[in-house]
Amino acid sequence: ASLPRSSLSSTTETSTVSNSYSAPDEEIERRRNLAIISHPDSGKTTMTEKLLLYGGALQQAGAVRMKGEQRATQSDFMEMEKERGISISATVMSFDYRTMHINILDTPGHQDFSEDTYRALAAADNAVMLLDAAKGLEPQTRKLFEVARMRGLPLFTFANKMDRPALSPYELMDQIEAEFGLETYPCLWPIGDGDRFKGVLDRMDNVVHLFDRGDRKSKAEVEQVPMGDLETLKARIDDDELYEKLIEDQELLEELISPLDMDRVMEGQQSPLFFGSAMTNFGVQLFLDKFLDMGTKPAPRLARRMEEGPKGKKAKAQESADDDEPNDLILPEHEEFTGFVFKTQANLDPKHRDRLAYIRVVSGKFEKGMKVGHSRSKHGKKYNLAQAQTLFGSDRESVEVAYPGDVIGINNPGAFAIGDTLYTGTDKVAFPGIPSFSPEVFAYIRSPNPSSFKSFRKGIDQLLAEGAVQSLRQRNDDGGGPLILAAVGQLQFEVVQARLRSEYNVESDLEPIGYDLARWVDGGWDAVDKADADGKLFNIMIVQDRWQRPVLLFRNEWKAASLQEEEKYLELKPWSR
Ligand code: GDP
Repeated sequence: ASLPRSSLSSTTETSTVSNSYSAPDEEIERRRNLAIISHPDSGKTTMTEKLLLYGGALQQAGAVRMKGEQRATQSDFMEMEKERGISISATVMSFDYRTMHINILDTPGHQDFSEDTYRALAAADNAVMLLDAAKGLEPQTRKLFEVARMRGLPLFTFANKMDRPALSPYELMDQIEAEFGLETYPCLWPIGDGDRFKGVLDRMDNVVHLFDRGDRKSKAEVEQVPMGDLETLKARIDDDELYEKLIEDQELLEELISPLDMDRVMEGQQSPLFFGSAMTNFGVQLFLDKFLDMGTKPAPRLARRMEEGPKGKKAKAQESADDDEPNDLILPEHEEFTGFVFKTQANLDPKHRDRLAYIRVVSGKFEKGMKVGHSRSKHGKKYNLAQAQTLFGSDRESVEVAYPGDVIGINNPGAFAIGDTLYTGTDKVAFPGIPSFSPEVFAYIRSPNPSSFKSFRKGIDQLLAEGAVQSLRQRNDDGGGPLILAAVGQLQFEVVQARLRSEYNVESDLEPIGYDLARWVDGGWDAVDKADADGKLFNIMIVQDRWQRPVLLFRNEWKAASLQEEEKYLELKPWSR
């Protein structure tokens, strides 16, 4: 609250300035974005399809999923994703619904790709945790929840597959509270489950929505009965046991559950809870409508903001004075465009061999062809954002304008990396970088065939630039020695190999290295030399990262902790700044 609000611009001011890049208030107000996190198979793809259906982005949900064959869905782009049926890369889909504009950020479900999830969540203002109601919390729900919590996002919960036998809703609520310390507030409450799933009570409007099992592919026909109209309700539910239970549950919930507190929701302490069935379209639209009421609009972001004096001199002086601590809150209403890169990807469309950088717009208005500054540029170089695209269903569309909360894919000349800020105006703006996860698996990668070394090198360089994995080299290796890949999970290696094969047509050999942990040595090479001379680095591998900074590889956590304890000057860190 004590942050300077200098970036707030009044509406009268912005509407009269013609060459500024401010975003109209109504465009900011109507935007919501939502990241979906879930354990694989909980129904994320199905849910995404149904949401797109409401936006008219798909004519018939599921039409894109070939029956009985490999999956090929809207959010799965790459071959490997299709083959394995897992969603690897976080992608973005947007659609208009009623008066709103919604951006859905897809996130990989597998924990080996937690880092990609974290990056996608960095671009999100809201998240929904999708659960399989029969299974409750699963291993990757736990991992992804931790990632979401790190970002402190408002978190909604959707218990899916209620058309199948499910855990009791109380049991689900208990699990979430006990394991995550997250209180839930049921906005929807299920009436039965499995074959007896009759619908949901909307506890906020006190209306029961009864569903027709008819057509699974189109928007569900819903009959609504006010909770007060007991006679009709009883007749329509047509199951005395479930009717009695509903009446009982309603009373119990009123008594037991603390009221919805939007402040606590915003802080990620209370999670609005929904029950439904994505496949049969129960509760999806209700969720969407309530999310639009409750979800947060594009949020302000902390940034480092500096005046860019003539030739950037002043900026430099300020920079050295108090390094890169954020000093300003950039509001979406800020009169200049700002945004940051949270993902880069090559060869999204193999026919075009393109490279994309995904930008989350934080403030102002993006216009095709605008010139922007770049947070890492030393000499104030400007980049022309000539091409931008968004994803609408499976089609990529060219974007003319974008507003706060939106995500656009822009052509990446190679200059844009994850965490970079792009901005218009005379002030240099830098949002805090997106931290990397500490790698836990390591392997040498080689090209078995010398004649294809050039393509191998090119592919590797590209994938490293994307941040798909990190690279390390042995100490004193100036580039001729073996390359070490470092990743958070084994599947990331497999993706690298599969992409080298499909996108660069080269094979690769991977030789695992038996270390489990990397620590950056903030104390520098002198510290490494001292420890090495004292014989402290036995069974520890000394390597360097891309910027020739020292990194130690350990066989286990205990070994790293005890070395740090004994040799404090090493200043071991799980990742580099
Ligand atoms: P993802 O791995 O999280 O993207 O999950 P999918 O959307 O691919 O769904 C996994 C499986 O669960 C598929 O066979 C879906 O048809 C099925 N499924 C998804 N939602 C539901 C649902 O609400 N009810 C039932 N019975 N099955 C569902």
